Amino acid sequence: MTITPRPGIMDIALYQGGAAHVDGVVNVLKLSSNENPYGPSDRAKEAFSRAAHDLHRYPVTDHAGLRTAIGDVWHLDPTRVICGVGSDEIIHFLCQAYTGPGTEVIHTEHGFAMYRISALANGATPVEVKEHERVTDVDAILAACTDRTRLVFIANPNNPTGTMIGQAEVARLAEGLPSGAILVLDGAYAEYVEGFDAGLALVESRQNVVMTRTFSKIYGLGGLRVGWGYGPQEIIDTLTRVRGPFNLSTAALAAAEAAVRDTGWVDRCRADNARWREWMATALAELGVPSDTSTANFVLARFTSEAEANACDDYLRTQGIIVRRVAGYNLPQCLRITVGDESACRRVVHAVAQFK
Ligand code: PMP
Repeated sequence: MTITPRPGIMDIALYQGGAAHVDGVVNVLKLSSNENPYGPSDRAKEAFSRAAHDLHRYPVTDHAGLRTAIGDVWHLDPTRVICGVGSDEIIHFLCQAYTGPGTEVIHTEHGFAMYRISALANGATPVEVKEHERVTDVDAILAACTDRTRLVFIANPNNPTGTMIGQAEVARLAEGLPSGAILVLDGAYAEYVEGFDAGLALVESRQNVVMTRTFSKIYGLGGLRVGWGYGPQEIIDTLTRVRGPFNLSTAALAAAEAAVRDTGWVDRCRADNARWREWMATALAELGVPSDTSTANFVLARFTSEAEANACDDYLRTQGIIVRRVAGYNLPQCLRITVGDESACRRVVHAVAQFK
């Protein structure tokens, strides 16, 4: 007897990224998951260690400490913050609460894979919209909206392109959506853009915009899985109904709270990332591997063909360097390379030069 899952589930591909080793190679350099090469701040590590004293207790259910810290640092109403197991979980909450069979979820051609996965997992229909030269195309998204559209996901900066659209464009998108649709602004890489409010002002002024953020990138806490969302009270209250009471561990909450308050560490990581991103992008371009201007902690390196991109990836692996193939994002000629620290950037550029 075959027990059949609901329609859509078998369209989800099994995840294959994330490996941190290459067989037979020591000193592996992993530049495939956009992690912070400097790790979390010392204050976050200390808070994590302190949390080890109370492992027998369930965590708090209201996340008040972390929500207050996020509210203090970003000048937000903490009652309108929701915390999840990575921003992945916030994406799931949105799809669980607002979609289902007969509804549509819009994502962009080169958009983050989880939007489609979560739509399919909840029985909704994912609708892919073309980008314009690897940049989110607001007119194309508005043209794709129907009365079945419930969620529109855009990441700004976008992964894996690294490109951004301006706040006026984001506002035009929010204003043009049909009623009943929510614009989700995914700000996973927002902290890498100096002075960027990531659309928070828009969330404040509209009833149909939600923002998602993560501790996995600039805060260096990918291993603890913490993300958050901010939106209108009614939407956050709805999402809280589908959130399990103990979704975040005590240690994860403590580390994230300390991390968000350590703004000095975030500023240093942002500055170092910008410096070495520009260096790496320029050096790769000089080797004949251009990229679009990236605003995040990775560059999307463009090769002359899919075959060349794959051959370069294979060569980098022999050198113990793991980068990300992005054929699954309709970008078969490209490799996404995370910006590491100085020695990592020099090592990957040296290896690409040898390959060329
Ligand atoms: N959004 C974007 C655009 C991402 O690139 C990622 C991670 N790769 C996420 C969301 C999810 O991050 P996390 O679940 O670690 O918070």
